Amino acid sequence: MFANLSDRLTASFKQLRGKGRLSEADIDATVSEIRRALLEADVALPVVRSFTAAVRERAKSAEVSAALNPAQQVIKIVNAELIEILGGEARDLRFAKHPPTVIMLAGLQGAGKTTLAGKLGRWLREQGHTPLLVASDLQRPNAVTQLQVVGERAGVPVWAPEPGNGVGDPVAVARSGLQHARDRQYSVVVVDTAGRLGVDAEMMQQAIDIRDATDPDEILFVLDAMIGQDAVTTANAFAEGVGFTGVVLSKLDGDARGGAALSVRGVTGKPVLFASTGEKLEDFERFHADRMASRILD
Ligand code: GDP
Repeated sequence: MFANLSDRLTASFKQLRGKGRLSEADIDATVSEIRRALLEADVALPVVRSFTAAVRERAKSAEVSAALNPAQQVIKIVNAELIEILGGEARDLRFAKHPPTVIMLAGLQGAGKTTLAGKLGRWLREQGHTPLLVASDLQRPNAVTQLQVVGERAGVPVWAPEPGNGVGDPVAVARSGLQHARDRQYSVVVVDTAGRLGVDAEMMQQAIDIRDATDPDEILFVLDAMIGQDAVTTANAFAEGVGFTGVVLSKLDGDARGGAALSVRGVTGKPVLFASTGEKLEDFERFHADRMASRILD
């Protein structure tokens, strides 16, 4: 991911090599190149606009620096702006004052929610929490079994539909799972929910019902970074539907153009908390805007 964007940005900085100082014309030419590079990477238009405006502004008001040549100066500015649109300093997961903390996962089918439940479970366990995964995705055949498999791998118990826990009713499963967590003093409940291939009203209502039944401390919207321009529409639909408090970017290991990752914070105003970078449980980390910006500018 980002290979193309990186190449394009690097090429635009190269044009500044050998210049003594940054002229208005240099800034304009470089900003146009950056704009084209971002658009080609599928970054959402409003994000491209605010990004290029900020770079132009900063470049024009940049002090003439003895230490940095014009190319280095622009790279520094672009780096700072990339960190800004990616969300700046990372925020921690919010935990409830009175456990269990409830973390609900939302997103389209195939976004990576069930995989994330396992990753998050493992990560939470390593942090000293006692998580319980709750299988409220009853839409997709095998979703419950898949959660049980990742739960086993992660060493985290799974609450699945059975007579008494709710069968065929994802809201009842979520409710009984939360009660079980209270009874057994699990500290965090991760609720996996159903997604569809596209956003639809019934799916959104189900997510809203699960939200209302469990009153989550965090609703994490899982966004497949591979879906390109559709990411913005999908993110907006979930923001307006069930709502969410944070984003998890999945499939960052793919070779998509990176626009989803660069746009989601700017479009939704919600922070990216975690990044998923593969199918294995350990392919998962806290999201760091500065690290991602360096990867893009490397
Ligand atoms: P769900 O429908 O949202 O629960 O999505 P799943 O968790 O079942 O994931 C859909 C597919 O994407 C599965 O084949 C996962 O193994 C795969 N997947 C999930 N996260 C990642 C990731 O970060 N990178 C890659 N390459 N594949 C992933």
